[in-house]
Amino acid sequence: MYFKTTLVFALTLIQDLLLTLGEDFGYDGVIGPTHWGDRYRECRGKHQSPININVLRVKQVTLPDIVFVGFDDSIDDIHVSNNGHTVLIEVENEPHPRVRGGPLDGDYIFSQMHFHWGDNDTFGSEDKINHRSFPMELHMVFFKEEYRNMKEAVLHHDGLSVLAFFYELDRHQHPAYDEITEALMNVTEPKSSVAMQHPFSFLHILPYDLRRYFTYRGSLTTPPCSEVVIWLDFEQPIRLAHEQIEAFRELKSAHGKITHNFRPIQPIGDRTVFYNVDSNYYSYNELDSDEDTKRSHKRGKHNASHISLPSSFISIFSIIFIVHDYL
Ligand SMILES: [Zn+2]
Repeated sequence: MYFKTTLVFALTLIQDLLLTLGEDFGYDGVIGPTHWGDRYRECRGKHQSPININVLRVKQVTLPDIVFVGFDDSIDDIHVSNNGHTVLIEVENEPHPRVRGGPLDGDYIFSQMHFHWGDNDTFGSEDKINHRSFPMELHMVFFKEEYRNMKEAVLHHDGLSVLAFFYELDRHQHPAYDEITEALMNVTEPKSSVAMQHPFSFLHILPYDLRRYFTYRGSLTTPPCSEVVIWLDFEQPIRLAHEQIEAFRELKSAHGKITHNFRPIQPIGDRTVFYNVDSNYYSYNELDSDEDTKRSHKRGKHNASHISLPSSFISIFSIIFIVHDYL
């Protein structure tokens, strides 16, 4: 009993020490995910992210098309920075890309994008599909226009939307990611930042199929874990070469390399995950009876995708105590 009290006291002291050093949270030890709720109560909420998406339990729906505004613009004022937890990509000047449609009520303005990854290529994504992990996940964070900014938006249940994209391995490098991995080499130190050398288009770093996605209500996956996020998890992964994913693992926090920065899955509770399949998908499949119609199916799908994206819219600390077996 005495030992337990002393241990709890020691842990609290260490937590306080880390917090006074400006270390809000981490992914290991006493500042790891199981302790986030000590300081940030909402991290113990009932509608937390990430989750495992069980494909057999999703509710199939056909939502209005998502409109991606400014996603094919060539943006030349992009900044890449290391905030000690992940790499952030931000757009300096207005106008920012935006999204509307799908499950969203109103316009959502781009705030920043960032990544989550694991120690090796077998895990690293936050959400999982049928308990499958992906080596990395991209989060594009948007705030609802009517709330004007992130600070205000996080106070409302529909304040944010995050477009999430999974990565999977490919033998070939993805050319649109060369720019990003090059920038990473200049921001390996925490709190460092660099301007991207060449213009950059959102559409080029995303998968081809933006029509099929899962959507559910959840939270930020980092403290304060606010339950204000409409998640859209796109089904088609982005394909990157091993070396391109490896480049992210070179980033450092104040305590060494950021080898992993994903939160473990949280209980789904009473929530429903919806799966959007565009209505044309079924009619194409019905036509799929011979080779000729298969070919027209492919063309049809190609055209349909472009209709939805018209061009103008288109440590010393982590080793101190591993007291809880939380992974
Ligand atoms: Zn994230």
